[in-house]
Amino acid sequence: MPTATCQTCARPMRDKADFPRGNFSSEYCTDCLDARGILKSREQIRAQMIQLRITRNGMTEDEAAEQVDNLLRRLPAWSRPQAVTF
Ligand SMILES: [Zn+2]
Repeated sequence: MPTATCQTCARPMRDKADFPRGNFSSEYCTDCLDARGILKSREQIRAQMIQLRITRNGMTEDEAAEQVDNLLRRLPAWSRPQAVTF
């Protein structure tokens, strides 16, 4: 089973369900693509990452936002703006 990391939210991708349409060559996880297979905006992805940390990790919104912003700053996909405009 391939192991990858989503280029836009850093989610580990291990199971078929993590890959859009079970496509193991995808650089993005199912959370980061919409129903049409189009990459969501940075704001949408940021919002869902914050929500996930609040509900799953019990973080406050401020803590979650700080962690997500630090993470997004380090993800290469977001430092190459042209790479995320499909
Ligand atoms: Zn993702």
